[in-house]
Amino acid sequence: MRFGLLGGKLGHSYSPQIHTMLAGYSYTLFEKQPDELEAFFTASDFKGINVTAPYKKTVIPYCASLSDTAQKLGAVNTILRRDDGSFIGHNTDYYGFSSMLQRFGIPVKGKKCLVLGSGGASATAVCVLKEAGAQVTVISRSADDNYTNLHRHKDAALIVNATPVGMYPHVGISPVDLSIFTHLEGVLDLIYNPARTQLLLDAENSGIPTMNGLWMLVAQAKESAEWFLGHSIDDSMIETVYRKLKLQMENIVLIGMPGSGKSTVGALLAQKMGKTFVDADEQIEIAANKKIPEIFRDDGEDGFRKRETQVLSELGKASGLVIATGGGCVTREENYPLLHQNGTILWLARDVRMLPTEGRPLSQANNLDDMLRKRKPLYQRFADICVDNNGDTEQTLTAICRIMEDTV
Ligand code: NAP
Repeated sequence: MRFGLLGGKLGHSYSPQIHTMLAGYSYTLFEKQPDELEAFFTASDFKGINVTAPYKKTVIPYCASLSDTAQKLGAVNTILRRDDGSFIGHNTDYYGFSSMLQRFGIPVKGKKCLVLGSGGASATAVCVLKEAGAQVTVISRSADDNYTNLHRHKDAALIVNATPVGMYPHVGISPVDLSIFTHLEGVLDLIYNPARTQLLLDAENSGIPTMNGLWMLVAQAKESAEWFLGHSIDDSMIETVYRKLKLQMENIVLIGMPGSGKSTVGALLAQKMGKTFVDADEQIEIAANKKIPEIFRDDGEDGFRKRETQVLSELGKASGLVIATGGGCVTREENYPLLHQNGTILWLARDVRMLPTEGRPLSQANNLDDMLRKRKPLYQRFADICVDNNGDTEQTLTAICRIMEDTV
């Protein structure tokens, strides 16, 4: 055991994968209670560790010295054991957020920036933004500038969410209502699960550029790995690892008319891309313990749609899935954020004359041309991209793989 992550509750951490991709070493998770820290520092033989919540301040007394950055932020997220056995503490979140801001590409000098929350991540963002020449205001529930008087700052150019509001599993909530801000040029969220928090979805809806915290996570890991190994790692590795991880985490959501090939293409696509395939209609049947025609018979379309939204809210929160949706899921606007929070939405388009109707209550009861006419604007509203599925399935799969490589 030489490298790893120390924290209180680590759950599913991407750090082992990130460090292995960045530098090839294995990386262990150490979930410790506060009363186990002393023994951890005296008895274990790690060469270097990262530190996460809630120990970024707690570990400071174990460090014989601190880097200037760790001192400045009063927090440590990287500890290196020196040759004499003593520990030096550093903070690579500073580099992580600087790198994120640079990648976002919007200059902040002289601009009003709001940082939501007053914890450790907020302190890092504030420090980086101030050093970049921004005028920074922290919004805290308990400070003079708080969520009840945000109108004071309606001219803000940038908002950075450094609170856990909207993070998995408590998705679908935003710390602020963006509609009061009249000069917004960008919204950053340090959360990366979901990929698009409600805050980022709201910004996206208003055409405001957004970025989540995944880049910061990878960038801080890169600087940590450099400390651990004592040599530099090319900056391009941040992009490489970020893209691989993003592609792996992103759901691919297939929408389209009943019978357009969503289940067939979805299952094959999942196999090809190493993702897990889920058919939303099957999940609805499992949850209801009856077949879809029976649900329509007993509860009507409205009852079916409610069950569908319930299932999509669970599937949409997960990562790394290929989700085949029912043809009518686009008729409920509330399904859009559920599907898009972690997913790229692809509309599988197939000629209406090629669509089968067997076992599909709505297709049998309606003229398919009429159905398509009504639904087309809805498919367009939901879809990031439309994919033609009139030809060979293999061609469709290749096209989707290319789209995902290009868009992620
Ligand atoms: P933290 O110390 O637990 O919380 C940050 C602040 O959020 C708190 O001090 C609090 O500020 C505010 N807050 C907490 N619960 C809230 C609620 N229900 N409503 C409104 N505000 C609330 O966490 P942190 O370590 O600073 O991390 C903050 C976020 O950044 C987390 O989501 C974390 O996952 C993320 N993060 C990401 C990276 C990355 O690499 N991408 C790195 C570090 C952290 P007030 O009491 O002042 O309102």
